[in-house]
Amino acid sequence: MKFIPYSHQAINSADIKAVVKALKSEWLTQGPNVQKFEKSLCVYTKAKYAVAVSSGTAALHLACLAAGIKKNNEVITSPITFVASANCVLYCGGKPVFADVYEDTVNINPKELEKRINKRTKAIIPVHFAGHPCAMADIYRLAKKHNLAVIEDAAHALGSSYLHKGKRIKIGAGKHSDMTVFSFHPLKAITTGEGGAILTNSKTLYDRLLLFRSHGITKDGAKLKRKKSENWYYEMQELGYNYRISDIQCALGANQMKRLDRFMKIRQSIAAYYQKELRNIEELILPVQSPRVRSAWHLYTIRVNSLSKRKKVFQKLRAAGIGVQVHYIPIYQQPYYQALKHQKNAYPIANKYYDSAISLPIHPSLSTKQVAYVCKTLKGILYGR
Ligand SMILES: *Cc1c(COP(=O)(O)O)cnc(C)c1O
Repeated sequence: MKFIPYSHQAINSADIKAVVKALKSEWLTQGPNVQKFEKSLCVYTKAKYAVAVSSGTAALHLACLAAGIKKNNEVITSPITFVASANCVLYCGGKPVFADVYEDTVNINPKELEKRINKRTKAIIPVHFAGHPCAMADIYRLAKKHNLAVIEDAAHALGSSYLHKGKRIKIGAGKHSDMTVFSFHPLKAITTGEGGAILTNSKTLYDRLLLFRSHGITKDGAKLKRKKSENWYYEMQELGYNYRISDIQCALGANQMKRLDRFMKIRQSIAAYYQKELRNIEELILPVQSPRVRSAWHLYTIRVNSLSKRKKVFQKLRAAGIGVQVHYIPIYQQPYYQALKHQKNAYPIANKYYDSAISLPIHPSLSTKQVAYVCKTLKGILYGR
């Protein structure tokens, strides 16, 4: 069997057509497709504003800038995530602080989070690990109590939702946060090649994000600090960046959004298949989905019970052509973060999780046959066949 990657983009002929059309248009960047894509994100999530940018990492950086993260500010996030969730705080001169996770969902535990809040704390970056929404109502309550900003790292969670007071809230709607960040890297729910977005319901934050996206420059008469006397006049008001995304990429993104729900259904059915095929195996802990949430199933991460076995199981799956991965090495274990004096032993749940985790393939282009092969191979390894 051909190598099975843990994730993969799904590009069809309509996507290609949309990109070719953009290439033949007047605009290669900052054209109508950017707004079209942003609008599709707002319609899907029910957020008021969306700002599409060049990557999920750029989106996290801009969200931290817009939230006013500065030198000596502390921002609390999960240790079990991609390094970008914490690096964005460093970009602003702030200090990332980690709080241990729940054992079942691997999401940040609000009780651990609260222990880390002090006078210097400015914001919280909850990460919806694997697509399972965090305990957002609890996190938001803490944030309000301590006057903190909440930036959701929803790189895994485009398409996820949770129930709150009987209502289904899509991740991105911003019911319990100030901003939500998505990534459109090829391995995420939908792709623009590289890309990201920040969603918000605040006009003030939206205006700041637009400014920071493009060098801190505005030409908008209503926003100028000095009176506009010449047609060419523009102002740089903040130290911004070039984090723009191209019209070509957004043409792809807008077309991919049409299939997001279909992609979600396939991911859900693959997860359901794994849950059924791999249940009652003593050696394994399977991922959970709280009855109150719908996960986008960005990852399907199993845990191998006896820690000494993980490496062996991982290597044998790889040798069988299955592109398993480990998500993630806890950020504080990285040499860069060790040099910043982050403790290694302060997060027992995260450490234990990391020692046992294996992500199995899950993505919309996976066939039933391939999923069956993964299950059969895994069982064979565990039962020594
Ligand atoms: C992918 C990812 C990012 C970064 O997104 P890019 O688009 O690759 O810059 C940030 N956080 C998490 C949790 C991710 O999975």
